[in-house]
Amino acid sequence: MVAPDQVTIACADNAVQNGARIFLNTAVIGLDVEGGRITGVRTNRGRLRGRVVINAAGVWADRVAELADDRFYTIHPRKGVMAITDRSTGDLQRRSLGMMWIRRPGRTKGGGVSRTIEGNLLLGPTADEVPDREDHGTSCEELEALLHRHMPLNAQLRPDQIIAYFAGVRAVTFEEDFVVEESRRVANLIHVAGIQSPGLTAAPAIAEDVRDLVVAMLRREVQVRARPEFDPCRKSPPSLSGLTLEERHRLILRNPAYGRIVCRCEEVSEGEVVAAIGSPLPATTVSAVKHRTRTGMGRCQGGFCTPSVLKLIAREMAVPATRVTWQGGDSLMLAGETGE
Ligand SMILES: Cc1cc2nc3c(=O)[nH]c(=O)nc-3n(C[C@H](O)[C@H](O)[C@H](O)COP(=O)(O)OP(=O)(O)OC[C@H]3O[C@@H](n4cnc5c(N)ncnc54)[C@H](O)[C@@H]3O)c2cc1C
Repeated sequence: MVAPDQVTIACADNAVQNGARIFLNTAVIGLDVEGGRITGVRTNRGRLRGRVVINAAGVWADRVAELADDRFYTIHPRKGVMAITDRSTGDLQRRSLGMMWIRRPGRTKGGGVSRTIEGNLLLGPTADEVPDREDHGTSCEELEALLHRHMPLNAQLRPDQIIAYFAGVRAVTFEEDFVVEESRRVANLIHVAGIQSPGLTAAPAIAEDVRDLVVAMLRREVQVRARPEFDPCRKSPPSLSGLTLEERHRLILRNPAYGRIVCRCEEVSEGEVVAAIGSPLPATTVSAVKHRTRTGMGRCQGGFCTPSVLKLIAREMAVPATRVTWQGGDSLMLAGETGE
């Protein structure tokens, strides 16, 4: 069992520590193809160049393939709604309870009730074909269907233990299979598309395949050697809630910011928020801090800690609080100063 966001964050930090550059809030809007190869990747923030281009654009992968005139698969969005319970329910269930979907094999593994590593219980997901690739909303009907189907799996669960609902969209190909291969039309393009569930589980194996494809592609043009200085380990910052009282005491003596609690539901300290903001891939939005530290993931869903997180981001980034966003772009958290 893994925490998907923590795995992704750890990989991103490790990549940056090893010299990778990550451009967030950067959308690919065009590909320049000359002589059968991509010579430039046009984005909303300028043009990028690379010897190899990997198209791993999730639900948009077929559209990105089309930008290189290489759309040999289509993506069909399949939405999944999930519900998550308060951490206090973690003791009600130790293992995952699966609901095999026998009548409609292929569309989903069936979902069920599973325990996260943090101790919440996850109900779902549902599986419905939707026209909108970014349909992350949840409706009453979807929630009722979710509860009706999955909640009876654990007789001790009650609807009032649920603290949040959310939805994701799977990137499904017509063949219901992953596309992990070199383009047959564009010499330096690799497709990693249609990575629907269980794409997270398969990610380490997919990564090894992609590494081999990239190395083979590069070797047609240049010499490729392993970098001896590559460090595959990333040391995670301390998480107060996972420490014993003795360990907390030692940490707070070293850095008193770990003694100031920002999120009471999840026991997240100022020290953790500051560490997240200063990480190799800095967490500079309220949502990024949430995913790194779990601020706002408890029962109050950020009602108490959001203003404190916002102030800490503004302080550490030396920007006015009115410039802090939820998730980049124009998702500003505050409308302006009071009285303006
Ligand atoms: C409800 C649900 C339940 C799931 N359950 C499981 C499970 O139990 N086990 C499991 O193993 N997997 C599960 N999965 C699947 C797993 O989440 C996916 O396989 C995985 O996230 C796919 O990763 P990806 O990198 O291919 O795509 P994504 O995570 O979607 O990443 C694609 C990225 O490309 C970016 N992008 C798109 N277009 C552009 C563009 N034009 N320019 C720049 N960037 C762009 C997007 O912003 C996004 O960041 C589930 C998925 C859902 C939705």
